[in-house]
Amino acid sequence: VPTTPALQARDINAIYELQDDNKKGTGAFSRVIVAKHIESGALRAVKIMENQHLTGKKAEMVAHEREILRRTRHPAIVTMHDCIQTPDRVYFALDLMQTDLFEYVVARKKLSEDDTRKIMRQLLDAVNYLHEQSVVHRDIKPENILINTPDDIKLADFGLAKVVQEWDVRSTPCGTSFYIAPEIIRGIEAQGARPLCTTREVVKFVDIWSCGVVMFVLIAGRPPFAGQVKTSPERRDLLKKIDRGVLFPDAQWASVSEDAKDLVLQLLNQDLSQRATAASALKHPFFKSAEAKKELAA
Ligand code: ADP
Ligand code: MG
Repeated sequence: VPTTPALQARDINAIYELQDDNKKGTGAFSRVIVAKHIESGALRAVKIMENQHLTGKKAEMVAHEREILRRTRHPAIVTMHDCIQTPDRVYFALDLMQTDLFEYVVARKKLSEDDTRKIMRQLLDAVNYLHEQSVVHRDIKPENILINTPDDIKLADFGLAKVVQEWDVRSTPCGTSFYIAPEIIRGIEAQGARPLCTTREVVKFVDIWSCGVVMFVLIAGRPPFAGQVKTSPERRDLLKKIDRGVLFPDAQWASVSEDAKDLVLQLLNQDLSQRATAASALKHPFFKSAEAKKELAA
């Protein structure tokens, strides 16, 4: 990862007291631990990546992640306080959050419609902010959404994010299968990486699909379409499930409002010309207060 000499020279231990045994998460290429910012005493989460793992494409992705984190400033996006590079590692010092939305939902089985509304409003607001700047996240899922309370969530893990510049956006297989948009699966199925679309607007829709899957998971405690995308039969099977449409059969949907179901359907619309954008989703009646709805009806 290219960096300035000033950053290169810094010694992490002069700035942070790393609590190596206080882990928040471990991934294939990174681990996240709690650390104390020595000067302020503030606790932060430090995401650590070993340089020896950062070769080729992976190094490029870490550079993207750093650049995007560096220039985003939004209440529902994790803030990077420091980025420190040593000969062995890259460290991102981030806002410390209690847990991620995956753990949060698993512990509670599913969430109430009110908590879902609070979380989805912040998530879509963060996605709207990113899309306005032509940044696509491409890996939106509960594991990458950090949470203290339903009123305080932050989108994280910009490892697959990128600034959409090229007009020929390719359907590179990425992300986690439950959350992958059908147009991406079809792209892989149709021959590896194929031109997916010709405008930079369209690629943003993959994030919206993922937001729809997240919303379904929060309310139902399970994904709407479960399957894998590694092999061709798996992909065709998953597409068949998606083609059958979003169903709300479980008991938990019986008590859910029509507005909530309608928003899920708008986020999970296979027709890109009909799928919501982050901006249009935020204007959906699901996000209007009961009072505002009464006023509209009057
Ligand atoms: P990876 O690229 O390995 O998926 P992530 O950035 O998603 O890395 O971090 C991995 C996990 O670590 C997350 O799913 C979450 O549980 C935890 N985590 C990451 N950042 C923070 C943070 N700022 N505060 C608390 N936990 C975090
Ligand atoms: Mg992650």
